[in-house]
Amino acid sequence: MPGPRSLVLITVDCLRADHVGFLGYDRPTTPFVDALAAESVVFSNAIVAGAPTYYSFPAILASRHPLALGRDVVGLAPGEPTIATVLKESGYATAAFLAGNPYLSRRFGYQAGFDAFRDFLDAEIESLVVPGNGAGSGGLLTRLNRSLAEACHKLGLVGSLYDELYFQYCQRVAASPAPSFDRLRRYPAADVIVDHACNWLAGVAEAPFFLWLHLMDPHSPYYPPQDALRWMGTPEISAGRARYLNSYWNRGDLGANRFRRQREEVVALYDAGIRWVDAQVARLVETLRHSRLWDNCVFAFTSDHGEEFLDHGGRYHPPSRVAEELVRVPLLLRMPSVSQTGPVQAPFSMIHLAPTLLEAAGAPVPSSFSGRSYGARLHSAEDWDEAAIVECITDCANLFRADGRLGRRIVAVREKRYKLVFDFGLHREQVFDLARDPGEFHPLPADEERPVRRRLLERLRQHLADSRGDGGSERRLRALLKEIRLESATAAACESELVRTQG
Ligand SMILES: [Zn+2]
Repeated sequence: MPGPRSLVLITVDCLRADHVGFLGYDRPTTPFVDALAAESVVFSNAIVAGAPTYYSFPAILASRHPLALGRDVVGLAPGEPTIATVLKESGYATAAFLAGNPYLSRRFGYQAGFDAFRDFLDAEIESLVVPGNGAGSGGLLTRLNRSLAEACHKLGLVGSLYDELYFQYCQRVAASPAPSFDRLRRYPAADVIVDHACNWLAGVAEAPFFLWLHLMDPHSPYYPPQDALRWMGTPEISAGRARYLNSYWNRGDLGANRFRRQREEVVALYDAGIRWVDAQVARLVETLRHSRLWDNCVFAFTSDHGEEFLDHGGRYHPPSRVAEELVRVPLLLRMPSVSQTGPVQAPFSMIHLAPTLLEAAGAPVPSSFSGRSYGARLHSAEDWDEAAIVECITDCANLFRADGRLGRRIVAVREKRYKLVFDFGLHREQVFDLARDPGEFHPLPADEERPVRRRLLERLRQHLADSRGDGGSERRLRALLKEIRLESATAAACESELVRTQG
């Protein structure tokens, strides 16, 4: 392929494959990106290499299986080649504007290779989203309330009644003053990120560039700009109602049936977030066209994982789940030299995205990448059925503590038709026939499709054997050293804070 070409990578957090128009969604979430599909390759079965965010991105940027450096290593290892480091070394101007996801930060090595790196994480956002940071642990009233809650829960139904009353009480307390969507939103909306990107593009001279935007609009809590709700034709949802819905959806004390009553409105908020992303992507592409940069641009639009809306009884995108609504993501690649008719149905592991993009840009592909470029296959419209591997860890409740990341593996092996889900914690293997059971509700009986089961298990065995190879040992060591340095820095900061307060 000719090169060098510039590269724009847009990742949208929590975007399910079945909620974009170019993959068949019947609501108008992505009219602009749908129009790009005519000049792009669209993948119907792009499968993330891990979920959620922190297990997905090592594959997207560094073409590496998320647990390949050990279960205790998260993020990118120092010195690990990524799309950004390769393109920077190739003379590209590089920039990342990431809408406040704490897992895509310097802490986890994502700044590597970027001239400009902005993660929009200020102290306020970090205190809201970092679990176990002490928020909500203080106060006499809080402690009193917790004791009362524990006592009530020992009395069965009284516990449920208590939860209901407490939730309604909190809603009343929070009801004034009336909030606005903009004030309730936790992350910078896509227009803010695109503004920064357009400003940066205005300063890019002749050199090719790599621009990565990560957009959080469909991420919970769901507070889309109200314009997007109007564009979607959604019946009026006030900011107060949206806050009620988000609080309700976040309750830990209800069964799926209670949530089902609110599901439609919650999905409407989520969909409007996608629509806002679409409008801002349109603005970005318009800027690129206006600056005559678009024609020489490789453009990728995708997501790090999906979102569950009670599909299997759950909400959000809990770690340790590998169902289709969480691991199948939209992927659209616009490569000026490749045209494709109709969506690619074969499974495409996101492990192959980085090498495919680098080759399309005309840059070298590092030997450390686990995936390989699919450029030639896409050129020749060749079909394939290679299994995609998804892996994550059970009970990864707090990524910021090493002991929170050492649960057992869950691995999925996803072929075009069949999918194996192997849970090492539960010692359970399930095989699904996605053609007959696309919702993954009925695992095949153990004595059915034995050759399929054998093939999938063999692929799993091979993946685990590859994972034990020593190719990543040096990177693992560097990652562990970084952890130790971070721990020492934190300890030193605590000590000086102690001295300051005592002094
Ligand atoms: Zn995410």
